[in-house]
Formats: sequence, C-alpha cells, structure tokens
Amino acid sequence: ERVDRADPQSGAAVKAADRAHVFHSWSAQGLIDPLAVAGAEGSSFWDYDGNRYLDFSSGLVYTNIGYQHPTVVAAIQEQAGRLATFAPAFAIDVRSEAARLIAERTPGDLDKIFFTNGGAEAVENAVRMARLHTGRPKVLSAYRSYHGGTSTAINLTGDPRRWASDSGTSGVVRFWAPFLYRSPFYASTEAEECARALEHLEATIAFEGPATIAAIILETIPGTAGIMTPPPGYLAGVREICDRHGIVFVLDEVMAGFGRTGKWFAAEHFDVVPDLLTFAKGVNSGYVPLGGVAISGAIAETFASRPYPGGLTYSGHPLACAAAVATIGVMADEKVVEHAAHIGETILGPGLRDLAARHPSVGEVRGTGVFWALDLVKDRETREPLVPYNASGEANAPMAAFAAACKKNGLWPFVNMNRTHAVPACNITEAEAKEGLAVLDLALTVADEHTA
Ligand code: PLP
Repeated sequence: ERVDRADPQSGAAVKAADRAHVFHSWSAQGLIDPLAVAGAEGSSFWDYDGNRYLDFSSGLVYTNIGYQHPTVVAAIQEQAGRLATFAPAFAIDVRSEAARLIAERTPGDLDKIFFTNGGAEAVENAVRMARLHTGRPKVLSAYRSYHGGTSTAINLTGDPRRWASDSGTSGVVRFWAPFLYRSPFYASTEAEECARALEHLEATIAFEGPATIAAIILETIPGTAGIMTPPPGYLAGVREICDRHGIVFVLDEVMAGFGRTGKWFAAEHFDVVPDLLTFAKGVNSGYVPLGGVAISGAIAETFASRPYPGGLTYSGHPLACAAAVATIGVMADEKVVEHAAHIGETILGPGLRDLAARHPSVGEVRGTGVFWALDLVKDRETREPLVPYNASGEANAPMAAFAAACKKNGLWPFVNMNRTHAVPACNITEAEAKEGLAVLDLALTVADEHTA
C-alpha cells in the first residue's frame, strides 16, 4: 500500500541525517540501520517507500491506545494553546486531574502521585522513598527483570544489558523469582515453584539481614524478560514477607499497567496491593513522556513534615498530564481495558497456542490480554533457547531471520533474545490481531528451520 505524501527521496534524507547525528539507545552505532518512519495511525505505521507495518510491539510496549488517537492529539494541542508548560511547585488543573484519575485506578490506598518523565525515573524515586521511609540501605530485585536504563534502575535490572554498566556497589541484591518453564528451583508444578521461590526469598532476606532491606521490587508480570505470570499465591506471599519484616513492597507496572494485561493494573489479577507502584508508558500511550510513582498513605505520611529530597524540572508537565487525562478518558469511554482482555481471551491466546501446536520452534506460549510471549527453542524437549542469552551477529541469526520474515510480511515484531512478544495496542481490532497471527505463522516456519 503506497502512502502518497511520503516519498523515498525524503526518506533517504531523514535516514542520512539520523546516521550523521542521532546516537541510538542500546546499539553499536555503526551496525544499525533504523527504518525511516513517515507516519503512523492506530496500530500501523509506514515508511517513505510506502511499506505499511502492523505494530505488534506498540513501539516499546507503550502505545496502548495506538498512534495518533485524535482525542489525545487534540487534548495536547488544546493544552499547548492554554498553558504549554509550568514548573512543578504549582497547582495546575490538568496535573491535579491526571493525579486524581491515576490514584482512582491504582489499587488500595496508593493515593498520592509523584510524576516523572518515564519509567526509570519512577523506579529511582520509588527506591529513594523506600530507603528514606525505612532508613535501610538495600533493595532486592529479581533476575529476569527490567527496571530501566538509569543508574539505580539498571542495577536493579536482572538482565544481561546490566553487565556493561553495573558497578556492583549499588546496594542491590538479586534473587530468583518464579518461572516454571525455566525453573531456577527444579520445580515441576506451579505450586512447587511458588513455595520454593518464597522459601528462597526468605533465605535471601535472612542472610542479607531483614533490618538492612528497604524494599523488594518486582514487575507484577515481568515484561521485557519474558512475560512470566507469577504462580497463584506468589505475590501475596511476597506481600506477607514484606509486612513481616517491615520491607517496602514496590510493584513496577511501567509495562504491565494501564490495560496491557486486560486490567487497569496487573496487581488486580493477584489481589495484591504494593506500598509503591511505578507506572509510565501506557499512562498516556507515550504521546508525551510521563511516568510516576503511586504512593501509599503510610509512605506519603513519612514526607508530610519532612521534605522529600527529589524532584524533576518537568515533573507533572502540563502537556504530558493533558495527554494522560485524555488517554485515561479514551480508555474508559472506549472500554479499551475490557477490549484488551477480550482480544487476549478470544484471539491472541487461542491463536498463539494454535501456532505453538504447529511450530516446533515454539517452546511455550505465555501471557494475558495484549501481553504475550513466544519462547522460541531449538529443541522442545531440552528447552534450549533458539539463540543464546545476549547473542549478537551470527549467533543471533535465527532470531534475525525470524524478525526479517515478519517485517517482509508487514508485521513489526517485538524480539528479545530467544523470544518474540505479541504486544500490540490494547485497542487493536480483531481483524488486525488475526492478521498479525497469520504473519507470525509464516515467520515461525523460518524459526522452525533452526530447530534440532
Ligand atoms: N520498568 C519496566 C517494567 C519497564 O518495562 C521499563 C521499560 O521498558 C522501565 C521500567 C523503564 O522505563 P523507561 O524506559 O520509560 O525509563
């Protein structure tokens, strides 16, 4: 499908300027070839050559209501005309309204909102609040997690991207969270995995010294590391452990929050309320950078008469807050959260399981809502990943070939290590979701060629 207003000439100029001056995240600058994007709408975007892609990655898993939603675009324009910016130390209508709408949707008594520009800053501040609230230094975080790219957040991150920058002196202690398919505990049932994971966490706490631990941080459902829904009882067990030791429980919902799992927040699936909850991404579909920490009454009370030593010039930026108010309004009016649950139950879940039944490269399907992972393997019996951890170049060729086959057939996939995630917008249509499954079906035949 051709897009008239885009011409390949200007695409080449955009690409050339990018290569000359833009320094990209997580990349060897000389080895990348970023696609020049001409436009986007709903669940699709297109390049200057007129190639259209169905976005099964939602950007970086954040365009929860798709691209260019007219209501949100209009709200940003209206806010820009009225009051484009104002410093954080003032009461601004749109900031108060965004905070109210978020607080109303977060679980329990998480009623105060500290705004940041994104997820990593939310994590940084949640950890700082926990340390000051408890007067304790250490934070426990899980292997197979992602919490952001800034200093504390990357140290909390339990994935190999941390290796290059981890100083090892951050006050972070890592532990294993449950993941039955690749169980760190040699468990064979969910119940066994849950019990052993909780025992392991207790033992870790005992040997670190409970009185030295400020917080335990977990993604409610770890996203980037593989969409690993915890077994029933695990998060409630962590909540109980935290309560017993006076440890602050932080749930990171930067990725899982705002509809992605078919609930406003993933914590609702487990009936658990953290002391601090971090969010970003879906809060305003990423139209303007925004993140934050939702804070319990008890932790907010710590800073009632004592200043909170942290802040950001753009905390609660009016354009970002206007986008959040509009996005939350759209999600409520258009029943986007319910739709995400419906797409997961009726199309993505059954469709991905069907692919797994037919493709030997699919080891496991995991997920809920519009939050799904296919764990690709060389061998279903041994569960050996299709490519090794942190593979690049030749070692990563099977995943690169899979991704190329998706793109050639008009699907933009999310690919991380040996996994592909089906993480489209929460308001993807049924027809689009089916179209995406059909392309994955084609591309998995390429992955199948690399199985044993
Ligand atoms: N926490 C989680 C769970 C995430 O998935 C991410 C980003 O993917 C972050 C934190 C970091 O957010 P940001 O990239 O907005 O700093």
